[in-house]
Amino acid sequence: MLAIWQLSGWRASRRTLLVGLVAALLLLGESAPARGGSQLYPDLRTLPPSDLHFAEELIDGATHHVLRFAVTIWNAGQGPLELRGVSSSDTATTLVLQRVYDETSEVAELPVGGFVYHEAHNHWHFEQFAEYQLWTRGEFDRWVLSGRTEGEPGWRGSKTTGQGESFCIRDSRRIASLPNSPRTRGYNDCGHDLQGVSVGWGDTYASYLPEQWIDLGEAPLPNGDYALRVIADPAERLYESASKEDPSRDGPLVNEAVVFFNVRGDRVRVRPSP
Ligand SMILES: [Zn+2]
Repeated sequence: MLAIWQLSGWRASRRTLLVGLVAALLLLGESAPARGGSQLYPDLRTLPPSDLHFAEELIDGATHHVLRFAVTIWNAGQGPLELRGVSSSDTATTLVLQRVYDETSEVAELPVGGFVYHEAHNHWHFEQFAEYQLWTRGEFDRWVLSGRTEGEPGWRGSKTTGQGESFCIRDSRRIASLPNSPRTRGYNDCGHDLQGVSVGWGDTYASYLPEQWIDLGEAPLPNGDYALRVIADPAERLYESASKEDPSRDGPLVNEAVVFFNVRGDRVRVRPSP
């Protein structure tokens, strides 16, 4: 009798162990594809640009009309976007390594671009963090219908020394409560040592900041319908997955936001998305 009890007790605990193992494997199976292995990558998302309005600015000695707007790029991933600057004798630029953590806090460092000192903002920016495009609505619709092959934006952003918008990358505000998301700001420095965006946090560029605009030239934007498109990491410099090719995380389709708006005189009216 004792032996049978012992045997069934052993069976019971073995069953418990097996159930536990199966549950653990199922959990691993569920989380593995999202994580792309054990590396905890960031996943950049753009909120629809907001606070659109016209202003006039003195650019190269002439009065230009500009479209100002606010941009927020946030991190919906499993790990932080963390960028470490490597000091060099060249004081104008700093090589940047992206630090990717894994679940045991091991860190890999991958070269992804550079920090450049931005005179008007008086701090360091990561180059090509975003791209701003302004399209006429007609040209934008043609581009979409052609499978994104035919057509060009009429205007691009200018807060840059190269082809993309440069940003000081930091935690501005918390966007979402996600696993691994800290409650308090983790990155708040615009130096060339360390910048980043924590999980669940967003980096906001308010519309009043210097060069946070699209330069329209010396004439105002004609009346009509337009599309403003903001793309995070337009040149695919940053690792949002090991391959940089995961369509659920990398590339403009998941990294962009578009707002449509109408212009009448100096009035900008944002239209609801179709
Ligand atoms: Zn700045």
